[in-house]
Amino acid sequence: MKCPHCFSSILEASCARCECGFSASALNSYLGDYWVRLERITDASQCLRLEDIRQVELLMDDFERAFPQAFFAIYMGSLPHGLNVSELGFWLLNQGAFNTPSLQKRNDFGVVMVVDPASKNLGLSLGYSIEAYFDEKRVLPSILQAIAAKLRTHDYGGAIQQAIHEVTQVLRKKARQAPWKPDSAPVSPVLAVEPLRKGHQDRSSRPRPLAPT
Ligand SMILES: [Zn+2]
Repeated sequence: MKCPHCFSSILEASCARCECGFSASALNSYLGDYWVRLERITDASQCLRLEDIRQVELLMDDFERAFPQAFFAIYMGSLPHGLNVSELGFWLLNQGAFNTPSLQKRNDFGVVMVVDPASKNLGLSLGYSIEAYFDEKRVLPSILQAIAAKLRTHDYGGAIQQAIHEVTQVLRKKARQAPWKPDSAPVSPVLAVEPLRKGHQDRSSRPRPLAPT
């Protein structure tokens, strides 16, 4: 995963340390080194209206139907002093067991949006398998800008809907650029079939043709 401070792609393990000084193990010792169970929508700040939640849940379902490996989750709440939205998003992607309709989804394909309504800070953390699609110099800033515009007017439901829309657009574009290639599918060296009778497999047991006399 990318470092939540400098976006270097050097963090692959939860104990990783980045050259910029960020340490995943320090973050884990602060927030906990254990799995946490979460719903797709966590609104600790209680900023979302019931109607917002319903609307966002429908969009999250659509998102998961469009990208069956992926999921979108949101955490809204005031963050403790010394913790920023990107760090919390990073930790949630590493330690969160998100309650998606299909539990087999891997966090490698997860998108976690963290919003601190009090400070108006916003972060979008992306799983290891999709983060390369969101260029941190161009794509990610423009997405965050679009969401921040909604946050400024306290339209929290609209901000989340905008985020899901923007992420969907990026993933759709990438999916169109990567056509399915049957040749790239892994080829098993052994045919995955079981012979019904062992005799068919054992060529030496076949009767030999008679030699001409
Ligand atoms: Zn870093």
